[in-house]
Amino acid sequence: MSILNYLVPLHHNVGENMSELVNRDAYVKRFDRFLDEKKMRKTPERYAILRCILAFQSHFTIEHLAQSMEQEAYHVSRATLYNTLQLLVEAALVRKHVFEGLQVQYEKAGNTPHSHLICTHCGKLKEVRDNDFNAYMNARKFTAFTADYYMLYFYGTCSTCARKMKKQKMK
Ligand SMILES: [Zn+2]
Ligand SMILES: [Zn+2]
Repeated sequence: MSILNYLVPLHHNVGENMSELVNRDAYVKRFDRFLDEKKMRKTPERYAILRCILAFQSHFTIEHLAQSMEQEAYHVSRATLYNTLQLLVEAALVRKHVFEGLQVQYEKAGNTPHSHLICTHCGKLKEVRDNDFNAYMNARKFTAFTADYYMLYFYGTCSTCARKMKKQKMK
């Protein structure tokens, strides 16, 4: 199990149950509360960005988000996108992934828990879901520490790259 990279977040004021993020309203409500607490303005841009993010089924980069905002004919600056993403991460509505050798990726926090398989040769990313493993991790207790969530990354070689490497060796 040495390749497991076990990460736990540093935010403490957001120890809320992720399973409550079942629909769009739940995200919006929590964002409302978060912005209120921070005494930040509830700008239409911030909510438009959240709406865009909720439409993504899986991971996305800031470029994906910018494209999809453009498609909605919503013009916001990169700085606004970036700042809002940071806020959403802080509000525990969005997860940020920093994968080795890949662009920073995001996904909404309410996605069912999963692990990530990352090919270190081509950068391909795959998500795997394992109920037994989730049950084990959710039951995990730590001394003097309350975990809000975990993220799990496996780095290795995908089957396509493995095949290519085998062919090259045979030459
Ligand atoms: Zn690969
Ligand atoms: Zn993921």
